[in-house]
Amino acid sequence: MERLGFLRSDLVNSLFMSINQQNIRNFCIISHIDHGKSTLADRFLEITGTIEQREMRKQFLDTMDLEREKGITIKLQPVRMKYNEYVLNLIDTPGHVDFTYEVSRSLAAVEGAILLVDASQGIQAQTLANLHLAQEQNLIIIPVINKIDLSHAQVEESVKELSQLLKIDEKDILRISAKQGTNIEQVLKAVIEKIPAPKGNIKDPLRALIFDSIYDSYKGVVAFIRVVDGQVKAWDRIKMKASGKQADIIEVGVFRPQLSKTDMIQAGEVAYIATGLKELDQCRVGDTIISINAKTESLPGYKEIRPVVFASFYPAETDNHDLLKDSLAKLRLSDAALQYEPESCEGLGRGFRCGFLGMLHLEIILERLKREYNLNLVVTSPSVSYQIIDKKENSFIISSPEDLPEPNQITETKEPWADLEIIAPNRYLGQVMKLLEGIRNEYKDTQYLSPERVLIKYQAPLNEIIIDFYDKLKNTTAGYASMSYEVADYRSADLVKLDILIAGEKTEAFSRIVHKQRLEKEARALVKRLKEVIPKQLFNVALQAVVGGKVIARETISAMRKDVTGYLYGGDYTRKKKLLEKQKKGKKKMKAIGKVNIPQEVFLKVLRK
Ligand code: GDP
Ligand code: MG
Repeated sequence: MERLGFLRSDLVNSLFMSINQQNIRNFCIISHIDHGKSTLADRFLEITGTIEQREMRKQFLDTMDLEREKGITIKLQPVRMKYNEYVLNLIDTPGHVDFTYEVSRSLAAVEGAILLVDASQGIQAQTLANLHLAQEQNLIIIPVINKIDLSHAQVEESVKELSQLLKIDEKDILRISAKQGTNIEQVLKAVIEKIPAPKGNIKDPLRALIFDSIYDSYKGVVAFIRVVDGQVKAWDRIKMKASGKQADIIEVGVFRPQLSKTDMIQAGEVAYIATGLKELDQCRVGDTIISINAKTESLPGYKEIRPVVFASFYPAETDNHDLLKDSLAKLRLSDAALQYEPESCEGLGRGFRCGFLGMLHLEIILERLKREYNLNLVVTSPSVSYQIIDKKENSFIISSPEDLPEPNQITETKEPWADLEIIAPNRYLGQVMKLLEGIRNEYKDTQYLSPERVLIKYQAPLNEIIIDFYDKLKNTTAGYASMSYEVADYRSADLVKLDILIAGEKTEAFSRIVHKQRLEKEARALVKRLKEVIPKQLFNVALQAVVGGKVIARETISAMRKDVTGYLYGGDYTRKKKLLEKQKKGKKKMKAIGKVNIPQEVFLKVLRK
């Protein structure tokens, strides 16, 4: 990952020596995706002179190639700025639901958050979700309406919505244009006035929360930390409270936004520590860094993050297995949420079962493996995890169809359900309801955010909303509706394993766990799709979708008819017949011994959707 490297020049550091804690403000910008967080951060970087004008570029803090291309923020990014006598530590965050973990980790490192709302969109699902996270941390919220320059901006409506949501006066809401730089200093002033200075004690033993990390081949694991108490400098010996691992610090410093060495970091600062450690597990995100021998209590860490969608990756060229293994290990160094374990399957060879926070997360990892490591992969169909209770009363979670025990071993199968929140303009409510009717669901609540816009709450099986529900919602509402979800619990469900037989042989990569209600539809769709994409063979190929030996749907790919008689013009009928007979025999033979050769693209076409 091409996150910002170490800053070579040490000149700037003198500016930041020995900071008075009273002058520190730590804050994030949170919002729905695209409401202008990274653009507002740009204006801050300019006003504070953190980045020189000639080095400035749009969404400066989006440093990964993929972020710049897709125009979205994927990773949190801290930066330290100086404004008058104040030191401002800002963390820019992503807005997409898949990257909420980045937001929650950022929020634990700060005292306040700017809540940004696009005046042409109003409050969206992720505005609410991120606001709730900030409120859970008791952060000071600074409400800001952005994009007031847009001709279709509904500034006063948005102000009203936000003031009702936060139960505050309309005049306490700032109105800005991050793009044009309107009223930006008002935001900085509000940050300084409203957000409290950190309250740690510099004289207490060291306590620092690790909220992110990267790996540097020279300096080892570099922990991004919020120092809560005490102080720390290079060559101090530290201990990771949970892992118990000790390390001699190689370097400490701050984000400019490049990693920039300083002499010391102390209570109240957002900073980094280069630990020299070679393994990420020894210096985990969420762990507390303390001085060795100190009896310091841990800081509250983070809820353990659980992947919600799983898929297997197989290298398209089987000799790339080791490359895939190394690449995943490297990606994990900068992405604590990525999980994987080895797996193998007939036809595809050796690969990995991977867990992701959502489909965008999956897509981004896939894209990075392709670009950064030149890996062409076969991906199995994405699935959620399931809870199984077997006849011996053991309860366990499975994330691969292969791990589903035989039906006679199972007492109960459960699937994950999610709390779903959708915000939509009234005029699209009909379309949204229709879409919801297409999935299993349980209605919860309706709230009006304004006379024109409504928040509806449902519960639904994660499986039904995770793959393409969001796309459908966007399409059916011309992009006006937004949604967020959070896994709630596991509920009893009638689940079966659907297998695909191609010419009588089970092809594991196409197996999936399916709800009985969806079984027929899914089985039919799958064999139909396979029929479209598997090339014709010299013999008929039966495609069967089966559950426990019972065929649910079938298709046949008819044989490619090589016209061997073509060159025999004229009426030599007997010769022609002989040839056809011979061909028939040949076909039989092929079918008997033959396994259908399925090209890699078929897997990609079927599974990648
Ligand atoms: P983020 O996802 O919240 O970080 O949003 P970005 O900062 O990446 O901005 C998303 C899009 O909105 C970009 O195309 C920006 O140029 C645009 N944008 C941001 N702020 C403004 C604004 O004040 N006015 C207008 N017209 N566009 C803006
Ligand atoms: Mg952004």
